Amino acid sequence: MSATVLTGTPLSGRVAVVSGASSGMGAATAERLATLGATVILLARRKDKLDQIVTRIKATGGTAHAITVDVTDRDAVKAAAQQVTDTYGHADLVFNNAGVQLISGIEELKTDDWQRQIDLNITGLMNVIAAFLPHLTTNAAQGRPADLINTSSIAATRILEKFSVYSATKAYISHLTRLLRVELGPKMIRVTTIEPGMVDTELPDHVTDPDATKLMADLIHDIDVLQPEDIAETVAFIATAPRHVNLTEITILPTAQAI
Ligand code: NDP
Repeated sequence: MSATVLTGTPLSGRVAVVSGASSGMGAATAERLATLGATVILLARRKDKLDQIVTRIKATGGTAHAITVDVTDRDAVKAAAQQVTDTYGHADLVFNNAGVQLISGIEELKTDDWQRQIDLNITGLMNVIAAFLPHLTTNAAQGRPADLINTSSIAATRILEKFSVYSATKAYISHLTRLLRVELGPKMIRVTTIEPGMVDTELPDHVTDPDATKLMADLIHDIDVLQPEDIAETVAFIATAPRHVNLTEITILPTAQAI
């Protein structure tokens, strides 16, 4: 798959919400979906970063809108969804992507880090689903496309020492997505989980454990890791597939990544 596979504006008329849109995979995906004609709503906490991306999108003729929101705040996410409805109508694509990775040995009892990952990777993800699922349901019922794409990780299934809480949050996302598909597929809502390997983003910047930092730094140094644009192209591929086609679970690895 290359960044030039899809051309034109196949997503024209669609309204896409991207969480974690201020950097990395979310930012690249927001830009890519806008290039393909979607109106894109970018959610994250850093207003300056979101504004820069919105400016870039608009400069190339796209339509984008930033909403500064902490997705761990259920009421704030609900208010963001209302804002989308009021301005653009119901969203028909949700890239539920915000996440944080904080690696530590379990006996270090870094309970604040455990909680931060659970709050964002699980509760934040559920808050986005709660706020935007009615949007998807409405669109699907009216015969329009409706996509819920959740970002998990290969950590959901790999056994990586010290990754226990992060991996468990991602295992939650992967299995949740399988279960959601059973309920939502028959309503013509496509549900997908993306499980990437190493992508060059800001994610490792938050990691303080020296072993995990070395693992990721070595991968970035030694192999040709994925770029955020590779994930963006994958989301674009999922969203532009015919409505009866649901790519359900997608693992994306750098070709040379062995673990
Ligand atoms: P980044 O750190 O670049 O992006 C994380 C995004 O989440 C940022 O936009 C950040 O924005 C946002 N975010 C963090 N906390 C909150 C919050 N409380 N409310 C709203 N937004 C928040 O990393 P990636 O792009 O790599 O991460 C995207 C997803 O991909 C994550 O779920 C991650 O677990 C997953 N992933 C990443 C891999 C990798 O190798 N990079 C591999 C597999 C999965 P802000 O700080 O402005 O709020």
